[in-house]
Amino acid sequence: MACLVNGFIFSSGICHTSVSLRFMTDTPFASAKRIVVKTGSALVAEKGTPRHAWLEKLAADIVGLRERGLEVILVSSGAVALGRASLGSAGTRRLDQKQAAAAIGQLRLMSAIGGAFEPHGVVIGQALLTLGDTENRRRWLNARATLETLLEAGTVPVINENDTVATDEIRYGDNDRLAARVAQMMGADVLVLLSDIDGLYTADPRSHPDATHIPHLNELTTEHDAMATGANAEAGVGSGGMATKLAAARIAHAAGCSTLITIGNREHPLLSIESGARCTLISAATTPANARAAWLAGHLTPEGSITLDEGAAKALRGGASLLAVGITGVTGSFERGAAVALNAPSGRTVGKGVTAYSSSEIQRVIGCHSEEVEAILGYRGRPAIIHRDDMVVVR
Ligand code: GLU
Repeated sequence: MACLVNGFIFSSGICHTSVSLRFMTDTPFASAKRIVVKTGSALVAEKGTPRHAWLEKLAADIVGLRERGLEVILVSSGAVALGRASLGSAGTRRLDQKQAAAAIGQLRLMSAIGGAFEPHGVVIGQALLTLGDTENRRRWLNARATLETLLEAGTVPVINENDTVATDEIRYGDNDRLAARVAQMMGADVLVLLSDIDGLYTADPRSHPDATHIPHLNELTTEHDAMATGANAEAGVGSGGMATKLAAARIAHAAGCSTLITIGNREHPLLSIESGARCTLISAATTPANARAAWLAGHLTPEGSITLDEGAAKALRGGASLLAVGITGVTGSFERGAAVALNAPSGRTVGKGVTAYSSSEIQRVIGCHSEEVEAILGYRGRPAIIHRDDMVVVR
């Protein structure tokens, strides 16, 4: 979304007691448009078998949220847990054995999740991501476009790491962080981490009976990291634990997305959050659109520039996407996914954006109408050279 990027007010500090339960629990969903829900292996699998009854409850809750107009993306672990038994005595100690188990278990996982949504007439779509899909801007544009299309089609995208091909150097490593990266890429308002613990405590409650539950935070500090390390790091049986949940919450927070950490094993894993089930809410200080604008404005160095005609410069200020017809020139050599400066006819920089076309493609379609672009390039690309969500414009 085109918007000014200065003047953010970041609130901070711990609110242990001053927040009412209703505020903590129902506000994030009430104002959310898009949420990412992450479930761990222990929730979806038990002794190598899918937990069908629980998946049915989760599906029913997701369908309930969708009926209220929310878009829901599910990130589910469980591929290794569901494939392990089929490897027999070989076990899953080595990476390649884990990857083989994931190849088997991912099918079972999707079949179980798909089956849980079937009675509701809701179709799911699988996306297996590796680190580059959310870290590399060109691939990020592709992955986001596919997930947007799945959401527009009314399906529930179900995401896991592509464990079968991802090796250590290209792995997210845990699905908490994967879910946070997905939330960031998709501009989600809320990230829900369904776990086996109902949130963050001042110490591990299993070994410290006097540990206090923290219902709400506006900010994560080293103090909270300390609470989640040591024994508490293992709270949560998945590969995650509390430390990775906080790492995920940090990624989400920077992206304008609030994080909810709670127990997943409930009759209503998601709707119970609204009726006051205990959780830790880490509130975002800004919106996903403002966080993205701040990132575009502050962190991306332009690799080239695009000159606009007067009409396009005005349209961009009004919130439009940049089309080829409004371009009069391009400088520099850049690929899809590069950051570029947007210049008015006077040469003054009026914005910055992430381009969906390379400089050589743009050269060939300067001034063309969108219908001509496909004929000139020989393939159908994205509708806009730069989508309005991928630019900041100085008004
Ligand atoms: N992607 C792994 C799986 O599906 C799980 C990783 C995690 O739980 O953090 O088995």
